[in-house]
Amino acid sequence: MNKNAIKTTKDTIACSDNGQHPQVFINVKAGSGTCHYCGQRFEKVPSK
Ligand SMILES: [Zn+2]
Repeated sequence: MNKNAIKTTKDTIACSDNGQHPQVFINVKAGSGTCHYCGQRFEKVPSK
């Protein structure tokens, strides 16, 4: 399992685990979020 959080500057990020599950959008507006299909973590980082 990939435990490294994926960083994004956007409020939402799409995850489909390379097509392994239906595409879902994870809301990271609060700072972080987790895909409930594959458990991938996402973190919001400030944009410049
Ligand atoms: Zn996922």
